[in-house]
Amino acid sequence: MVKQIKEAEKIYFACEKCGLLYKEKIWAEKCEKWCSKNKSCNLEITKHAIKDRDYSLLNHHTISLVGKVK
Ligand SMILES: [Zn+2]
Repeated sequence: MVKQIKEAEKIYFACEKCGLLYKEKIWAEKCEKWCSKNKSCNLEITKHAIKDRDYSLLNHHTISLVGKVK
């Protein structure tokens, strides 16, 4: 069953190419542009992504992930 995630004032942005999540839309957009042009990830961009450790935090707070996150 698909989870729908929504928590007030908390929205996350995912790069469609690599699936990384960002708290700021600007970084998701940068990531997506980079991923579209390059085959590798840009560390300067991906370091802004939400880390695995944060996923458990998200789950803990029952924030659901909306969209095309793998
Ligand atoms: Zn990306």
